[in-house]
Amino acid sequence: MAIDKNSEKYKKMLEESKFVETAIQLIKNHTGAKPNEPGNKGARGIVICPKCNGELMYTVASINGHIWGKCKTKDCIQWMM
Ligand SMILES: [Zn+2]
Repeated sequence: MAIDKNSEKYKKMLEESKFVETAIQLIKNHTGAKPNEPGNKGARGIVICPKCNGELMYTVASINGHIWGKCKTKDCIQWMM
């Protein structure tokens, strides 16, 4: 099925992916990792959510450095990498 790029759902998805990108950069800074490196493995904490300014919890996987994040605000951004 083709994606309708004018649909509200697509716009929302695109908007959220930008917030997630921003959040990942914030998290990397927060863990002290350099921008082109994965987050420091095993790190966890809270940063300010770029979408709602609420609390966004994150963890960096100790195995592969993948960043997981979830905003405490209901229906705000969350992702798994
Ligand atoms: Zn949020």
